[in-house]
Amino acid sequence: RELPGEHEERPGVREVRGALFSRVRPTPVRAPKLLAWSREMAAALGLGEADVTGERFARVFAGNELLPGMQPYATNYGGHQFGAWAGQLGDGRAITLGEAVTAAGERWELQLKGAGPTPYSRFADGRAVLRSSIREFLCSEAMHHLGVPTTRALCLVATGEGVVRDIFYDGHPREEPGAVVCRVAPSFIRFGHFELPAARGEIALLRALTRFCIRRDFPHLAPEGADITETVLGDWFGEVCERTARLMAEWMRVGFVHGVMNTDNMSILGLTIDYGPYGWIDDYDPDWTPNTTDRHTRRYRFGQQPAVAYWNLGQLANAIAPLFASLEPLHAGMQRYVDAYVAADRDNVARKLGLSEANDEDVERKRALERLLALAEVDMTLWFRALLRFDPQAPSLAPFEEAFYDAARREAHAPALLDWLHGYAARLREDPLPPEARHERMRRANPRFVLRNYLAQQAIDRAEQGDPGGIDELLDVMRRPYDDQPGREAFAQRRPDWARDRPGCSMLSCSS
Ligand code: AMP
Ligand code: MG
Ligand code: MG
Repeated sequence: RELPGEHEERPGVREVRGALFSRVRPTPVRAPKLLAWSREMAAALGLGEADVTGERFARVFAGNELLPGMQPYATNYGGHQFGAWAGQLGDGRAITLGEAVTAAGERWELQLKGAGPTPYSRFADGRAVLRSSIREFLCSEAMHHLGVPTTRALCLVATGEGVVRDIFYDGHPREEPGAVVCRVAPSFIRFGHFELPAARGEIALLRALTRFCIRRDFPHLAPEGADITETVLGDWFGEVCERTARLMAEWMRVGFVHGVMNTDNMSILGLTIDYGPYGWIDDYDPDWTPNTTDRHTRRYRFGQQPAVAYWNLGQLANAIAPLFASLEPLHAGMQRYVDAYVAADRDNVARKLGLSEANDEDVERKRALERLLALAEVDMTLWFRALLRFDPQAPSLAPFEEAFYDAARREAHAPALLDWLHGYAARLREDPLPPEARHERMRRANPRFVLRNYLAQQAIDRAEQGDPGGIDELLDVMRRPYDDQPGREAFAQRRPDWARDRPGCSMLSCSS
């Protein structure tokens, strides 16, 4: 395309100025082997089982072979990491193979993660370990099935090569199996893509990228042939704000903690992107973060995510400000974030509690419940799912017993929880929703199955022993997170005691 890219004349890791991407080929690996694939993603790309299980597929998606038309590249971006400007980051281990346009007219970018060094690899090797690749593969698809906007995953290929990482739990480096994930999205453009040229004063480049992004990823804002006026730019920023708000509300609804909400990990399309040390809330704790790197300041803790997204949008606004004659549209966009988040949060309250609509008191009612869940150490997913079985005619804690982690804390806070349930029962009795409609509304807002950290770790443990079967098994459960699945109740259990502080089951490091 017409965007300024840099051809790979000078190989090696370096600062890349005046270009938004560099052409780079994946580095072939020793022994590609397909470990898992998503049949839904494959089908969206027009691929069936026969295409995927052939030997060539594993070679292509390990980076050993290019298909005709593939022109791989890595992109250049910067970002604010933990609140501080970090300069050039870029795709250090991600390489885009190209775009596929399906018969239905959908456009998907296919990107390998862990396919070897690029000009943006900085001090690292461009590779990914099996455990983090399994986590990215599974969570991308689990989020999709939950209905949460996300980048997708097509497949997971073992490389047959070892990767060395500092393993945080025994303190010694050890060689681990490597893998490549093919992730898929309409666009992988991040806030950081705009921040880097802006920080360098490369305003023509910033303008070219913005126009490209609007034309490709937001075509409804600027129909073919129409100018990209300042009004269009303002609408675009406003839409980014609104999509981001909806994404935050979705994370809060399902109990997802991203873990590294740096601006380079924020998608311009409002997708969940870059699955690193993410985690799922077991016992409800707004202060929890899965990221060991963040354990002191907890900048990216669960309860802080909507506020961090707002801060991140502020950085994007700063970056694109040179394209505006007046800052008013940027302020308006930031306000659109607040309004959209408040509305989406209120909608969550209504859906999760099974109300036709939520008023201010209901919003406070849910906050009060959350405070109690934290005090009594109650499992978030199990509690909200058990609300489906709650009988407003006879309020009791009986449906919720499986959600408690600690008998003494249950005991201490049972009276307050019962009080809350009585208030809730009275509220339900005056709400106009008929019981069936209420049940269905709650069922679709309160998943039975989420990708609990310990479940993913069990699939990883098996795969590291040579049995990838746990990945498929877990993926299959996560296909229908809102359905009760008889025979699979084991996947809905609260985190077992042994997993409380086990590495991989609770906290994770960034460096995987
Ligand atoms: P992250 O914290 O995963 O968002 O990554 C921050 C930056 O580090 C990005 O520029 C990544 O591309 C880069 N990075 C992370 N891991 C590696 C790796 N193993 N090799 C090269 N670059 C990496
Ligand atoms: Mg990243
Ligand atoms: Mg990452």
